[in-house]
Amino acid sequence: MDIKPWLTEISKGKQPFVIAGPCSAESPEQLLAVAMALKNNGIDLMRAGVWKPRTRPNSFEGYGPKAFEWIKVVKAHTQMRFAIEVATADHVELALKEDIDLLWIGARTTVNPFTVQEIADALKGVNKPVLVKNPINPELALWLGAIERIYKAGIKRVGAIHRGFSSYQQSKYRNQPYWQIPLSLKSQFPDLPLIGDPSHIAGKRSFIQEISQKAMDLGYDGLMIETHPDPENALSDAQQQLTPAALEQLLADLRVSKRSSNNTLFVNQLEGLREKIDNLDQELIDTLATRMKLVEKIGEYKKDNNVTVFQLERWQEIIQSRPEWGQKQSLNYDFIAELFKIIHDESIRLQTDIVNKDTPNKS
Ligand code: PEP
Ligand code: MN
Repeated sequence: MDIKPWLTEISKGKQPFVIAGPCSAESPEQLLAVAMALKNNGIDLMRAGVWKPRTRPNSFEGYGPKAFEWIKVVKAHTQMRFAIEVATADHVELALKEDIDLLWIGARTTVNPFTVQEIADALKGVNKPVLVKNPINPELALWLGAIERIYKAGIKRVGAIHRGFSSYQQSKYRNQPYWQIPLSLKSQFPDLPLIGDPSHIAGKRSFIQEISQKAMDLGYDGLMIETHPDPENALSDAQQQLTPAALEQLLADLRVSKRSSNNTLFVNQLEGLREKIDNLDQELIDTLATRMKLVEKIGEYKKDNNVTVFQLERWQEIIQSRPEWGQKQSLNYDFIAELFKIIHDESIRLQTDIVNKDTPNKS
């Protein structure tokens, strides 16, 4: 994929680029109230769910095409641009007929390559930006695959929305962020716009600020934040929507750093420190290589003496002492414990190879 950094055109260089608006379009009054407040705050792309994918039947599933009538009125009144979720080829067709400005594919759709392909086919020859939310399960390939399908349909203005991943485990947030997944996507495609969706990660208003800040610290291009004039009484996602005033406060409090700086002093200092880190990394690798040589030698002794590779007491001693040594150097306990688990796994792998080498095949 040859993706151009297209978002700067529509964001007019604003950082972060913000898409805000209600989870669902509920009434013309609701849409107008949000649109006017957002416009006052310099935001001119508004989200509004027309069709809502809901987990259980008999929940509010969006007003469907009726909502387009309201959107039309609000557009005429405020010049607001609109973004909606499409989940089928029919949705695409209707949204295009209504001249919706940006489309996005929801998390429950991204998981299904057949549906994504149908949507991609319906988008052939269309000149609208399309954003793809991550799939609900933590799988980068599925996310990337959906983006590729849209791109191959000829949509060059394609981007990604990170809304977090479902997990069976109870956790602080409604969806686990697993930040390394969107960051891998970003490192493969640096110009692919990456938008954070702190509302769906958080599930709760009070966490939206910290998640938005984290997204900014990681260099995300934009944020999509659910905004409703009366969040408590919203027909969907009531606990995670912000009032327009709360959104304004959140954006004012957000610390937005530049990706890089041309300041010569900064660049020189950074280079000097990175050079030191490069040298230390080389030393770390030399030390690891020396350690693994000793591990191999022990493997030979274990083989000669017919002793098991895994020695419980030794492992217990390592996993207890190393994090404590680390703590004395102000290193995080869990970090050192994790690191030594990886080192120990590799030691076991090396020794297992040695013990099994030249052993006659018994089968
Ligand atoms: C939404 O944006 O309201 C929505 C349903 O999101 P997701 O696809 O991330 O669950
Ligand atoms: Mn929602």
